[in-house]
Amino acid sequence: MNNIISDLNVPTMNTPTGETVLKVIGLEKKFGNNAVIRGVDLEVTKGERIAIVGPSGSGKSTFLRCLNCMEDSDGGQIIFDGVDLNDMKVNINIHRRNIGMVFQQFNLFNNKTVLKNVILAPAYVKTQKMRAQKRQNLWISFKNLFKKSKAPLIPLDYTSKKQIVAEETALAVENLERIGLLDKKDAYPATLSGGQKQRIAIVRALQMQPKVMLFDEPTSALDPEMVGEVLSLIRSVAEAGMTMIIVTHEMGFAREIATKVIFFDQGKIAESSPPEAFFDNPQHPRLKEFLSKVL
Ligand code: ADP
Ligand code: MG
Repeated sequence: MNNIISDLNVPTMNTPTGETVLKVIGLEKKFGNNAVIRGVDLEVTKGERIAIVGPSGSGKSTFLRCLNCMEDSDGGQIIFDGVDLNDMKVNINIHRRNIGMVFQQFNLFNNKTVLKNVILAPAYVKTQKMRAQKRQNLWISFKNLFKKSKAPLIPLDYTSKKQIVAEETALAVENLERIGLLDKKDAYPATLSGGQKQRIAIVRALQMQPKVMLFDEPTSALDPEMVGEVLSLIRSVAEAGMTMIIVTHEMGFAREIATKVIFFDQGKIAESSPPEAFFDNPQHPRLKEFLSKVL
């Protein structure tokens, strides 16, 4: 695979800057009587790479899904870019666009080509925005006409859907080329290998130019020989400076790329430390037990 390090279109910022991107305070989530997330606090600064490890059923996926507003939490706060996502007044859809998510099972649209998969969401969002701006301008023009005033129109980011699609396609082509999959742009996901699907899913998430990427066991559904190509792409995204949270069972990878490793146990953070301390000097008995099984 080509070396795409820092070539992808992600903002460049190599080391954590200390600026808070995401702050989770006392997060809780229940399914019926099952308390799955039980008071989780986490602060993520720009450029940080948090690896989350822990036993199956400890709430790792639910935690990521809460961050992405795919689940409503039952308590606590998720402050993203200074805004509390649990606040009813917040437009979740707008915030979700800034959070890229990659799933274990790829979640590509099987009835859409690779290119369509990659450009669909950003093209839709931009088209909606353009239409809203045009509606507003129509309204401003009406008011100007009646009041004989001259309120200025909103400058449009784009004037046509065609223009938006062309721009998104150009970006997608560039990124597909960098991961060596441009020749698959008109293929359907069913014809691709698991590794190819997951790399497309990553490029699709990046196409939205998110501020944070969430990965939920991105290599767990892959045949062993395809794990490497996906980890290598995630490594490139990390090296390009992307802020990320990655749930993984790849301990070597977590150690290599994470700025902080977190151990989830029964819906709580049982341990959180820099990778060396986490793996070489674990404190919590459950983490010691967990590591003795997986390392
Ligand atoms: P992990 O990703 O760490 O394996 P999950 O977050 O998937 O853990 O699950 C944590 C717990 O929440 C499990 O007991 C699981 O059965 C439960 N759970 C997850 N999703 C749902 C759901 N949609 N409805 C009911 N229970 C759920
Ligand atoms: Mg999970």
